Amino acid sequence: MKKLLLPFILLLITKAYAQTPNQIHQKAILVDTHNDILSNILITKQDVGKLQSSGNFDLVRAKQGGLDGQIFSIWCGEEYGKGTAYAFANREIDSLYALIARNPDKITLVHNSKELLAAVKQQKMAAMIGVEGGHMIEDRIDYIDSLAKRGMNYLTLTWNNSTSWATSARDEVTKKDSLKHLGLTDYGKQIVRHLNELGVMVDVSHVGEQTFYDVIATSTKPVIASHSCAYSLDPSRRNMKDAQLKALAKNGGVVFVNFYSGFVDSTYTPKVAAFLHQHKAELDSLTKIYHEGDLANIRLNAIYKSESDKIRPPLSMLIKHIDYIVKLIGVDHVGIGSDFDGAESYPLGMDSVSDYPKITEELLKSGYSEKDIDKILGGNFLRVFKANTGK
Ligand SMILES: [Zn+2]
Repeated sequence: MKKLLLPFILLLITKAYAQTPNQIHQKAILVDTHNDILSNILITKQDVGKLQSSGNFDLVRAKQGGLDGQIFSIWCGEEYGKGTAYAFANREIDSLYALIARNPDKITLVHNSKELLAAVKQQKMAAMIGVEGGHMIEDRIDYIDSLAKRGMNYLTLTWNNSTSWATSARDEVTKKDSLKHLGLTDYGKQIVRHLNELGVMVDVSHVGEQTFYDVIATSTKPVIASHSCAYSLDPSRRNMKDAQLKALAKNGGVVFVNFYSGFVDSTYTPKVAAFLHQHKAELDSLTKIYHEGDLANIRLNAIYKSESDKIRPPLSMLIKHIDYIVKLIGVDHVGIGSDFDGAESYPLGMDSVSDYPKITEELLKSGYSEKDIDKILGGNFLRVFKANTGK
């Protein structure tokens, strides 16, 4: 009898102290490095301080999803340029400031990892700013300084469009022979060094391979890919090849995995092309209403939900990207950069910021320890943030 008693007592103790996946998730610090809601709300005028029935983000669902820190993307399309892009970026920052001013008990702007941890203690969301696209600085270093003063924590050197000083992934692939320069120019290198000095993280999502390697050779601080996946699993030019991932790890950087179905699942792009073709007339009229960004596409997917749901990949495919990168370069170099509100489709189950606990659940099922999950959800971000800001 005595022999049986000890394991029984141990089992009771383990059961009493065992945590549910959601408890593990809520205890961890979760930071998402890419969300596009700010450029959308300039058009939709939604108040994301309150629960919304559309879109992927609001403060209510963020709380449910255990989201502690969010980097809000500041973005405008390539039709904005000299004289307009910087002003547009500032309008988006204004709308984040307004959201914070309306909800001072729920969200606060932070500039470094120390402030982020203080916000978590006060149970407020730590808001940060990522400027997505070098075109928004309009080739001016003083605009970088001004954006940094307003809270810019990272600059994505290019969006899909190249700048006069850095080439994008799209242009390096599609316009290779007609490009005036390839990779970072001397001015581009100066910009990277300036960002390093200011403590603004250099983001290589969207940049071309040559720009990527020039950044790695130039940056004195760990760099980030704020919203990209593994090219080996889905050969999109927005994803990172194995050699790039290895170089990023060597630099001490982190890749934050994007949830967009097109970057997660290589079979999604032809499927969505057929879906869009099927509803072309309606998409055209929606595009006239929402002339900015991906809103027309997002709306079309919502209208034909059962149809668009059929082409979404399973959540396990997203977890595969995390797992692939972990196995290739280690658990210290991967994080979460959803791209919520910036795309029309995400894996099944990932409908909004309230769904992050499902990732923790899947990682636990795949055998990840609590310690490793803490790193993936936010620990790795905190490390790279501190390495850049010094605090
Ligand atoms: Zn993007």
